[in-house]
Amino acid sequence: MQGQQQESTVVQRDQAKRAMVIVAHPDDAEFGCGGSVARWVREGWEVYYVICTDGGGGGPDEAQDVGPEARQRMVETRKAEQRAACQILGVKEVIFLDYPDGQLQPTRELKRELVRLLRTYRPTRVVCQSPERSWTPALLLGRYHPDHLTAGRMALEAIYPASQNAWDFPELLAEGLQPHRVREVYIVGAPVLNHAEDISETIELKLQALRAHASQVGDHFEQVEERIRRGAQECGARHQLAYAEEFHRTENAR
Ligand SMILES: [Zn+2]
Repeated sequence: MQGQQQESTVVQRDQAKRAMVIVAHPDDAEFGCGGSVARWVREGWEVYYVICTDGGGGGPDEAQDVGPEARQRMVETRKAEQRAACQILGVKEVIFLDYPDGQLQPTRELKRELVRLLRTYRPTRVVCQSPERSWTPALLLGRYHPDHLTAGRMALEAIYPASQNAWDFPELLAEGLQPHRVREVYIVGAPVLNHAEDISETIELKLQALRAHASQVGDHFEQVEERIRRGAQECGARHQLAYAEEFHRTENAR
């Protein structure tokens, strides 16, 4: 990760092995696709993260001190945790959009920011969250935090058609940001899962990266580890793999 200075050096051309992960909160990417990200990095992919919110609402449900200072401390903690997790997985850069946690809205402003990033970094592969709840076999409430649904909706709207259509956000074209067509999209938690990534060799890295989110999992990491291992094993069993992460994968054909 090279932070801000990286942005100016991003070349405005398509690169086959460049992926962008767009999620609502620090830790969402590790839970949803940390094993796949680690695997892709090993295969030579450049992976960029875009975290839409600041993570400031990520304290315990029972907390009593939830004022602006406590919130700011939480933001700093969660950003540091996200950066540590990125380092473990080999993510090249993490970009925080800093919308208030718990209040993400499907605005034109958010969509413009995502289109700007897609047109600047020009990833061929994008991972995002599902804009829809899956009701079967059982609704996992936490997976469908309203910010996740909004981040998923805005990411998909930014990918198609806005990023690839010069007529959308003409102000970006005026800035010199040429349209960019994302080639494949991986959706985490979608109602229909049609693709598995083999994470048998990277599950330990996924767990290590999850552990970096100490404010979220530190006091019950053993349960988290057990749940993640069991889930990845169940996914893997459906595809004759030891451990897997599942997605709805779709190609953006011409
Ligand atoms: Zn989340």
